[in-house]
Amino acid sequence: MSLLSRRSLLAASAAFVARPAIAAGMASTTATDVVIVGAGAAGIAAARRIAAAGRKFVLIEAADHIGGRCFTDNRIFDVPYDRGAHWIHTPDLNPLTKLTARRSLEVYPAPASQKVRIGRRYAREGELEDFLALQVRANRGITDAARKSDVACSQGLPNDLGDWRPAVEFMLGPFACGKELTQVSAVDFAKSAERNTDAFCRQGLGALLASFAEGLPAKLSTPATAIDMRRDVSVETPKGAISARAAIVTVSTNVIMSGAIKFTPELPKRQTDAFAKLSLGSYDHVALELAGNPLGFDSDDLVFEKSADLRTAAMLANVSGTQLCLVEIAGSFGRDLSAKGEAAMVDFAADWLAGLYGTDVKKAIKRSHATRWNDEPLALGAFSAAAPGGQSARRILMEPVQNAVWFAGEAVHETLWGTVGGAWESGERAAEAVLRRLGPTKEAPPETVAPQRRKPQRVSR
Ligand SMILES: Cc1cc2nc3c(=O)[nH]c(=O)nc-3n(C[C@H](O)[C@H](O)[C@H](O)COP(=O)(O)OP(=O)(O)OC[C@H]3O[C@@H](n4cnc5c(N)ncnc54)[C@H](O)[C@@H]3O)c2cc1C
Repeated sequence: MSLLSRRSLLAASAAFVARPAIAAGMASTTATDVVIVGAGAAGIAAARRIAAAGRKFVLIEAADHIGGRCFTDNRIFDVPYDRGAHWIHTPDLNPLTKLTARRSLEVYPAPASQKVRIGRRYAREGELEDFLALQVRANRGITDAARKSDVACSQGLPNDLGDWRPAVEFMLGPFACGKELTQVSAVDFAKSAERNTDAFCRQGLGALLASFAEGLPAKLSTPATAIDMRRDVSVETPKGAISARAAIVTVSTNVIMSGAIKFTPELPKRQTDAFAKLSLGSYDHVALELAGNPLGFDSDDLVFEKSADLRTAAMLANVSGTQLCLVEIAGSFGRDLSAKGEAAMVDFAADWLAGLYGTDVKKAIKRSHATRWNDEPLALGAFSAAAPGGQSARRILMEPVQNAVWFAGEAVHETLWGTVGGAWESGERAAEAVLRRLGPTKEAPPETVAPQRRKPQRVSR
């Protein structure tokens, strides 16, 4: 069920229908109040807010589907497969779980604990406690360091993590941020909201997100190629131009930095520097269908390894009770591996599992798939993590450019960066800023979502 009121839906569809063609024989020009570039979480949230205010908008999406980095694939396996985001962090505060989902979508709590493999056995209770205590100390060390200056997270790590150091570094760095702790700002890390409780959507987080876009008139396969900000905004697409009073641009930081969208005048250095400091880390799923649950996993078991180095992975097993297991590879190691291609990624995942559970597990692999987000031209990476010294970049990206273009997306959130919830809230915030610029609206906007608590504990992606 769409949450948009009938009235706002009518307004939204009117915006879509009212497209005056400017010149015969030329690409048409659409005139509207707001053009929203990208129909991922931020773009969908922005569009809903603009529609609810009764303003005209055009939502364009380069891909042939909505969702962006939060997309559920139902074709590769016989079960929902989230190719991007899967975890619903802090569900009691997450903007997506605050909305009423379609009845057919089931959101349920993730298991609270995780398992750790030490060679061919599971860690014992005491060993797990050691590991958890070291994570807490590492978190605290990074937060303490962040209070003094915006150094790299690695500088805040305690020296005495012993033989758990690689596992702690993997969990807090590549697994949580997509980058090694040497590449992540301690202030960014410390500001990020606590992610100690999680939930899943049985039909996929992408399906949940898509359900909130029902009724929104997104123009698919319509990439923005250029944005002219000299007089209001004009967005070029291969299907014609869209002129608007303001634009909300939600593409990833790496897409902006790639130059795929040409801005006129050029983006100020302040903004390009900020985008550069918020480059995307590397994080991919290697999805393995393990027939018959040969390793006896429970639904949604999360398994780490007490590894010797960062050439390691994590695994979310039996996703929502299915035979699908996601081996998560991330950081520099994940980036190098994904550059070698899908076959190399699947080989690694199979070998990694065999190392932890014995070679027989390889025989149980029926089907496989690996995402390669760094090579997806519409994302060019997984999610942002600020470079040391670069945390303030997130606030800079909240500033409008030429009072015409607002940026939104996961990178434009100070505490929920790297998440669907953060992208959603940033889309709403940009929409509110644009609505203020456009002047009084016909309807009062819905209540804003309360800000999340800030605590530095991160134990899930
Ligand atoms: C593998 C992986 C795992 C993740 N796991 C989680 C998780 O468990 N939980 C969580 O909360 N978050 C997770 N994330 C992060 C989360 O997916 C993102 O933070 C969020 O989806 C980003 O939303 P967004 O709207 O900012 O950007 P996007 O989703 O990237 O949306 C931008 C949209 O713009 C489109 N676009 C690009 N270029 C153009 C153009 N020129 N013209 C028009 N459209 C264009 C793109 O196709 C895309 O649809 C994960 C991400 C990845 C990659």
